[in-house]
Amino acid sequence: MKIIAVGWNYAEHNKELNRINIPEHPVIFMKPETALVRDNKPFYLPNFSNRIEYETEIILRISKMGKNISAKFADRYYDAIGLGIDFTARDLQNEFKAKGAPWEICKGFDNSAPISAFLPKEEFDINNLNFSLNINGEEVQQGNTKDMIFKVNDIIAYISQFFTLKTGDIIFTGTPVGVGPVKIGDHLEGYIEHNKMIDFSVC
Ligand code: MG
Repeated sequence: MKIIAVGWNYAEHNKELNRINIPEHPVIFMKPETALVRDNKPFYLPNFSNRIEYETEIILRISKMGKNISAKFADRYYDAIGLGIDFTARDLQNEFKAKGAPWEICKGFDNSAPISAFLPKEEFDINNLNFSLNINGEEVQQGNTKDMIFKVNDIIAYISQFFTLKTGDIIFTGTPVGVGPVKIGDHLEGYIEHNKMIDFSVC
């Protein structure tokens, strides 16, 4: 399976990273399967970065193989949603950005993608979904999918021009404003609407 992620998909978040231009197309990157962490296992801070930041994101589970999917049929290709953290080594990312170099190491390192269990998509309006993250009991990030620059169906259509989507693939759909660093001892709890989706600690 593969993990495909969208960057810069919420305008207010782009401003906090000093990126003011609205992207013409979704900005896509990937994480390897070894990035996944499930079942609320702890996240171990890696020693190669001094600034690991959380990015809370709605994730999709692909349920059918597809290539060149049209946006109007894209909702047939995923069956469930969940919550994921796109952990990012921000210090390394800033170095790579300055050099115009690729992002893989800062985005795709081992355990950089903790994910929740999945919920059936039928129970939710994917284009009006509140989600949030608490750290140590304080809300640090809150978003709604209605603020996405590229909506879920457009993301699926765009990605599938380049990459055949396969059953079990996961798409991270981008993070809203409010990203920030984590440190050892932090306790992360993430929600979709009022459903607690993730609950794990940083070690
Ligand atoms: Mg992200």
